[in-house]
Amino acid sequence: MSKEKGQGRDITGNKYNRLTAIKFSHFGESKYKSRYWLFKCDCGKEKAIGKEYVTGGYTKSCGCLFLEVKTTHGSTRNRTLTGAYLSWQSLKRRCLNKHEVVYQNYGARGIKVCNRWKKSFANFLEDMGERPSREYQLDRINNNGNYEPNNCKWSTKKEQANNRRTTILINYNGETKCLMDWCKKYDLAYSTMCYRRRVNPEWSLEQEILHKQSLTYHILYIIGAVNPYKQRN
Ligand SMILES: [Zn+2]
Repeated sequence: MSKEKGQGRDITGNKYNRLTAIKFSHFGESKYKSRYWLFKCDCGKEKAIGKEYVTGGYTKSCGCLFLEVKTTHGSTRNRTLTGAYLSWQSLKRRCLNKHEVVYQNYGARGIKVCNRWKKSFANFLEDMGERPSREYQLDRINNNGNYEPNNCKWSTKKEQANNRRTTILINYNGETKCLMDWCKKYDLAYSTMCYRRRVNPEWSLEQEILHKQSLTYHILYIIGAVNPYKQRN
């Protein structure tokens, strides 16, 4: 790289801890006009970081190192296995490996991994960032949707459980939707339906629809809007 005015010493290709300098990026906005360089981290992520922080050894990675140290309490033998990495491996197993038991609930159900994430962990890390802490898991916003950037977020197990509760999948007339959507479609009371299913797990969507129809019919009969004894034409 040619040395341009004001960019200081060329550090292209130099490695500082996990970070390898790629090229000069920009000047910081503060009055000190610190020089930012683009670094490639060992984990694959690229990040612009103030040069002095890196060359001085204050910043040793894109942030993955800090999170690794924070989230591994010595139980993980290999320190390079970060939370994000484990999640990435796990989602690939669920969706792509037919020999995995969990594949039944993911890949077999048509849940896919976007090509970008299938291709590399670096892409996944870039889109999702490191797992915030051990309390977090990768969660799909739409439970029928794919593993892709706009359908994924890190959520705590508790948040995920809440999400699951609202996304009970039901197949009806050859169509699969979550219970919430079915209730909307047939104008059923979601909470009532959940209650009935808690009491009787066998209670089906069809039963609920028929129940509602008969109830409606009954009411219409009482108010005289329909007459079952009169032939329909
Ligand atoms: Zn990194």
